[in-house]
Amino acid sequence: MASGAEQGKATMNKKNSSLPVLLGKRVLLSNTKENSQPDQKKMRRDVEPVKPKAAATVTFSKRPVVASTRPTLSKPAPIRKASTVAAGPSRALGRASQQRPSDLKGKVSNTDGKSHNKVKTVHQENKELKGSVAQMQQRGAELKQELDKQRNLISEYEVELKALLGVKEELEKTISDKNNLQRDLSNLHDKYKAMETLRDSQELELQTLKMKLSVQESTLAQLQATLRDREEDIRSFQETVGNQRDAIHAGELERRQLHNTIQELKGNIRVFCRVRPQVGGGLSEHIQLPGSDNKTTLTLIKTEESHTGQAGDTQKKYNFTFDKVFGPHASQQEVFEEISLLVQSALDGYNVCCFAYGQTGSGKTYTMEGGDLEETGGVIPRAVQQVFRASKTLREQGWEFSFTVSFLEIYNETLRDLLYTGMASKRPELDMRKSTNNEVTVTNINYKKVTSEDQVFALIDLAKKNRSTGQTNLNDCSSRSHSVFKLDIEGEHAGRDIKCKSSLCLVDLAGSERMVKSQSQGERFKEMTAINGSLSHLGIVITALANKESYVPYRNSKLTYLLQGCLGGNSKTLMFVNIAPEPDNFGETLNSLRFACKVNNCVIGTANSNRK
Ligand code: ADP
Ligand code: MG
Repeated sequence: MASGAEQGKATMNKKNSSLPVLLGKRVLLSNTKENSQPDQKKMRRDVEPVKPKAAATVTFSKRPVVASTRPTLSKPAPIRKASTVAAGPSRALGRASQQRPSDLKGKVSNTDGKSHNKVKTVHQENKELKGSVAQMQQRGAELKQELDKQRNLISEYEVELKALLGVKEELEKTISDKNNLQRDLSNLHDKYKAMETLRDSQELELQTLKMKLSVQESTLAQLQATLRDREEDIRSFQETVGNQRDAIHAGELERRQLHNTIQELKGNIRVFCRVRPQVGGGLSEHIQLPGSDNKTTLTLIKTEESHTGQAGDTQKKYNFTFDKVFGPHASQQEVFEEISLLVQSALDGYNVCCFAYGQTGSGKTYTMEGGDLEETGGVIPRAVQQVFRASKTLREQGWEFSFTVSFLEIYNETLRDLLYTGMASKRPELDMRKSTNNEVTVTNINYKKVTSEDQVFALIDLAKKNRSTGQTNLNDCSSRSHSVFKLDIEGEHAGRDIKCKSSLCLVDLAGSERMVKSQSQGERFKEMTAINGSLSHLGIVITALANKESYVPYRNSKLTYLLQGCLGGNSKTLMFVNIAPEPDNFGETLNSLRFACKVNNCVIGTANSNRK
């Protein structure tokens, strides 16, 4: 198309190049024809809009081709052509003046015709161009309108875009929020799953527990029913127990009475004789024991050489009868069985006193204390054991007991506390006092409250140590002192308002041997006098009691004074006479047996229980 427009332009320029001569003429000529000038002017002005025709053609292209055509329009060519035209006429007029007038007239009319046609054509073209220019202008206005519309749209879009950007931002925020929420949701979901699992297991557990509970409930119901039955049983048992308690108590009272009757029939003072085994083993010939089990007699045989020498040796027999005689093979257990009934009497409220009498080495300490082994234990530990065991049984019947232990020795008529634990230099002096109820108490001595046999055994151990301290020859010293173990018993039956009080005295006497007077000097003599004195006073007291004399000389020795309560009509007394079987001891053995026999023949009133 552009090339078409160029062609058109080129054609027009070619035609115009031949025009100047004519145009110059026409300018001159046109003075008569006024119409032609405006046409000419019109044509020149219209020449330019030819380009817009090209531009009009360009309108279909969206680019504003008008701008590109402008340079062509602004070409100064017409001005140059005008100058050419100005120079041209002089030359043309020069040539025309040389030509002939007829040729010229023809030529001019010819040229006029031609130019008239051309003007017509140009007019036509101009008209067309005007039309297309108007079209173009209309089109331009439309386009401008369209452009404005588009611009408005764009600004609207821009506003919308802004709003959309805001929306986008919000959307992004919402998306990130959504992601966070989704994360949270998935976490919560996980948690929910875990909780579900937990709930399931707990439900299972609950189910199991419910089952267990129902089992337990049924067991409980059964147990409650059983309990009700048992309670019923217990009530009836309690009734029975109450009745039986009454029966037992009545039985117990009866037993005590019978027991006491038996003891009285046996004698309130009894003497047991015990012969220890010989040191070198074997049997001694001068002591004869009956072969029967229930031994009560002992014969001491003294073989004397015949004075005449004719009838051979003569034998002198000394027969003794005691409540019981124990040979060298009698065990500690057997010996204790015989005195356990007396220990029972102590719990029943009777005072009980047990002595071991005999020469040194005859077995007094062995009988009273015994060895360290259980089977070699003597009267004291066994009596303590029995008292605590029997008190337990009586406790079940409603009795309550309290026990007090004291342990002392009498040496040279002085009292010494064997339970003293202080410094030797600060050992207090002991004295005896008689209380208003005629009970003898020792001042400054340790009276130890005890609740078990073990506590008593600990005190016995302490007494053993106390006896040995400060004494160079233990056997010697202990054999020249009396040791007195005393257990005071207080019982109370709260339910029946009965109280009882008694003492169990277990005495290991000093050796009864008599010294040859010429050998006794100084301390030894003093000791011997004291021992003999107290032992003979013991004999005197017992004899006075036996003879029911109005005055009983208890105060003559510390021993009898101390044991006053245990030797009266209210007591049960047992004496062991211990015999050393060796022939050398014959004299002492005879003395001991005689003394014991004297005691055995005493009948000490009738004992009364210390019941209140
Ligand atoms: P005492 O106390 O009369 O001086 P002991 O009791 O110390 O005499 O006895 C002297 C010795 O004889 C001790 O070694 C003791 O163990 C022993 N003895 C005493 N009696 C018996 C007995 N029945 N069986 C075994 N040994 C005994
Ligand atoms: Mg002894």
